[in-house]
Amino acid sequence: MNNLRIAPALKEVAAVFNHAGKEVYLVGGAVRDLMLGRSSADWDLATNARPEEVMRFFKRVIPTGIKHGTVTIRHKGSSIEVTTFRTESEYSDSRRPDEIQYAAAIEEDLSRRDFTMNAAAVKLPEGKLIDPYNGQQDIRRRLIRCVGKAEERFAEDGLRPMRAVRLAAQLGFDLEEETLSAIPGALSSTAKVAAERIRDELDKTIASDSPQTGLVIMEQTGLLQMILPELETCRGIEQKGYHRYDVLDHSLLSCAYAAKKGFSQEVRMAALFHDLGKPLVRTLGEDETWTFYNHEKKSVPLAEGIMRRFRYPNAVTEKVLRLIAAHMFRYEETWKDNAIRRFIIRTGEDLLPELFNLRMADTAGTAGIDPDPAALLPFKKRIETVLAKSSALSLKDLAVNGNDLMAIGVKPGKYVGIVLKELLETVVDDPRLNNRKKLLHIAETINRERYE
Ligand code: ATP
Ligand code: MG
Repeated sequence: MNNLRIAPALKEVAAVFNHAGKEVYLVGGAVRDLMLGRSSADWDLATNARPEEVMRFFKRVIPTGIKHGTVTIRHKGSSIEVTTFRTESEYSDSRRPDEIQYAAAIEEDLSRRDFTMNAAAVKLPEGKLIDPYNGQQDIRRRLIRCVGKAEERFAEDGLRPMRAVRLAAQLGFDLEEETLSAIPGALSSTAKVAAERIRDELDKTIASDSPQTGLVIMEQTGLLQMILPELETCRGIEQKGYHRYDVLDHSLLSCAYAAKKGFSQEVRMAALFHDLGKPLVRTLGEDETWTFYNHEKKSVPLAEGIMRRFRYPNAVTEKVLRLIAAHMFRYEETWKDNAIRRFIIRTGEDLLPELFNLRMADTAGTAGIDPDPAALLPFKKRIETVLAKSSALSLKDLAVNGNDLMAIGVKPGKYVGIVLKELLETVVDDPRLNNRKKLLHIAETINRERYE
C-alpha cells in the first residue's frame, strides 16, 4: 500500500461525510505538502455534498464563502475549509460566472486547478492519492507545470503567473518550459487582476526562503517590468567601487540575505527597495566612479508609490519607508554621546534592531559575501551605554506637549510630531533648554520658518 498518512482529526471529519454517503478529499496545498513529505496544518477539503448539507452534518460550521460553495468546519481547534466539487474557476477579470457550476466527480474539480502539484487529491479517510496530472512526478522533478495548456490557463486567470512565481520561491522549484514561456503572452490578463491579489502573491514571494528565485523569474518573463517597473529600471545601473553588482542584482542579493537570515518582512522589503532612487541621482564623479548622493531620499517616494499601489497596510508601509530613509547611517567612534542620542531620536529607538539587520543585508548585497556580524558591535554597544545612562530621551520628558504647540499655532496633524521631535533633538543637545518658555519660543521659530 502506498497510501499517505492522514491526521486522525481529518479521519474523524471524513467519517461524518462517509456516514452520510458522501465522498470527501483533501485537496490543494496540503496534498502538495504530503507529496513533499511535509505536514500541513492548513486543510482544504472537496466533497460532492452541497454546502447546505455540510452545514447540517456538523455542529460548528461557518458559511465563509457560500457563493463559491465553501464553508468552514471548526473541529478540535482547527478550521477546515470544505468546498463542493466545482467546474468553473473564478476568473480574476470580473467575468465571474453568476452561478457556481457544481461538478459530479473529483476528477472534474481537479481539472479546473492551476498546477499539476495543486491538482491532486487524497481520498479520505483511506489516504489514496488521486493524481490525474502526475503532480507527484513533477514534484520529484521540482517543476511547476500548468494543468492543460499553459497559455489558456494563464489567459483565463492572470493571477496564475504570480502564483507560479510564488510557488517557485517557496519551494525552490523551476517553471516547466511551456509554463515559463507562456507568461510573457499572458501579461495583459495579469494586468487586469486586482492589486490586492497580486500583493498577496508578491508578499508570499518576499516572505519565502528564496525571494530572489521568484523575482528573477519575474524579470525574465516581463512581470517585473509590469508590476515593479521602479525595480526593473535598476537593471544595468552599474556602481563599481565597493560594489560588485548593478543596482538590481544588489537589491536582489540584499533581499535574499534578509530572507536567509529570517529577517522581518519589512526589512526584506526595505532591502529590495532601498536603492530605487539610485538611477535618478547617479553622477560620474571626478575620479571616474559613480556617485549616488542622497539616493535614499529619492528611494522613499518610489517605494511609497509601490506600496500604496498594492494597498499595503499603512503600518507596514511606514516602517519600510523609515528603514529606507535611515539606511545610509554611518557611525564614527569620535561621536560624542549627544550625537548618539540625536541619532537614536531621529531614527526611533524601536527601529534600530531592524535598521541594523537592513545594514547587514545591504552589506551582503554589496560584496556578495556574508558580512561580519561584529562590524556593527561598537555602534550597538555605544547605543546601549547611552540608552542606559540617559533618561530624557522620549517626548514625554519634554517640558511642552502637542497641545502647547497647537496653542501657539502649529498645524494639528503630523507637524506637531515633527516639531516635537526637533525640540527633543534640541534638548538632547542642550538639556538646559528643557523649559517651557524657552521651548515654546524655539517652537514658534521652527514653525514660522518651515511649516506655516
Ligand atoms: P497556500 O495555502 O500554501 O498558500 P495553496 O495551493 O493551498 O497554497 P490556496 O490559495 O489556498 O493555495 O488555494 C488552494 C487550491 O485551490 C490550490 O492548491 C489550487 O488547487 C486551487 N487554486 C487556487 N487559486 C487558483 C487559481 N487562481 N486558479 C486555479 N486553481 C487555483
Ligand atoms: Mg491553501
